[in-house]
Amino acid sequence: MRIYDLIAKKRDGGTHTREELEAIVGGFTRGEVADYQMAAWMMAVYLRGMTDEETAELTDVMAHSGVMVDLSPIPGIKVDKHSTGGVGDKTTLVIAPIVAACGVKIAKMSGRGLGHTGGTIDKMESVPGTRTALSQEEFFAQVNQIGLSVIGQSEGIALADKKMYALRDVTATVSCIPLIASSIMSKKLASGSDAILLDVTTGTGAFMKTVDQSIELAKLMVSIGTHHGRRMAAMITDMDTPLGHNIGNSLEVMESMEVLKGRGPADLTEVCLQLASNMLVLAGKGSDVRVLEDYSLFDQPAAKYELLAEQDGYIVQNDAEKIGSASVLLGAGRQKKGDSLDFAAGIVLHKKRGDYVKAGESLATFYGASERFAAAEAEYRSGLAYGPEKPAEAPLVYALVTQDGVERF
Ligand code: URA
Repeated sequence: MRIYDLIAKKRDGGTHTREELEAIVGGFTRGEVADYQMAAWMMAVYLRGMTDEETAELTDVMAHSGVMVDLSPIPGIKVDKHSTGGVGDKTTLVIAPIVAACGVKIAKMSGRGLGHTGGTIDKMESVPGTRTALSQEEFFAQVNQIGLSVIGQSEGIALADKKMYALRDVTATVSCIPLIASSIMSKKLASGSDAILLDVTTGTGAFMKTVDQSIELAKLMVSIGTHHGRRMAAMITDMDTPLGHNIGNSLEVMESMEVLKGRGPADLTEVCLQLASNMLVLAGKGSDVRVLEDYSLFDQPAAKYELLAEQDGYIVQNDAEKIGSASVLLGAGRQKKGDSLDFAAGIVLHKKRGDYVKAGESLATFYGASERFAAAEAEYRSGLAYGPEKPAEAPLVYALVTQDGVERF
């Protein structure tokens, strides 16, 4: 397979096979394909494009050109996040601790600044005493210990990308969707996370200048990652204006810390919250939906108490406010600001206004701490009255009010 023929094939709009991509990319990584040949091939890709399948194959070949990191020694779902770059884009510094604090592991490799865009590793290194080159053992140990580690990209990851990017940078072939998608996704796939949230920036400070271009890039990267068994999502975020107010390494770290202290600028805070929540969703860290089927997963009450009818008769009054106050006394609501709630406390009504009861029958079950039952019972009974006659039924809906008037039922 002659490289000359492969360059000509792409120049003429052809579609490469996996073997051809391995010959070009593998040959270039090993030093068998010259820089000028690779530059010519990448310009042909820039002008002729690639099919989505071809880009997915290229990504896989690039990912396997170096080390494929195995994060399995770190138990649980590992989530990564990648920004396509921007000005003042310090979101990783804010999001990573938020997501880790919610119990989702972050084992992340980040890059340095590219062109006008900053890089997380440069920012982290501006913190006095910070080391970003950890051994694999140190990296795993830190994630297992504190749930979070962000390190510089290992030298051995996606070797082809490193060499290709250096050429693209000087041959006007950076802003090409198949080349950007394969560059980013090869590193992400090789870095080993189970779920990846992409932050595809759009605007003057981003590689993609329009929302449509950004969506096209995002769709391609999501489909490549999904094809490789990763949970994927992408957000398109604005980069017409820098995020926050600070640009420059230590300035950005300081601003990120302000966000974490609750004093950050509104735009940066909002983008970080949106990204962090989507990472948590990708990691499946939502509510425990098993409670929909299994109520025993709710907090269980310490005790329960049956409130019995003192006499036979119809319930003619069963004051809702008194019932509410009784539930507060049981611990379901607050008696003063700052009181903590007993989520399992409350009342289940068995008999309501209009029902007939016999003495000794259960009117309601109280749930909560047993020492609270007496006060709650007194409150409940103060709103309860019996009578010999069934009271007239009160309507459930009294009226409908619209701009045309009031309709009473
Ligand atoms: N970031 C990358 O890692 N690669 C690109 O091609 C563009 C942005």
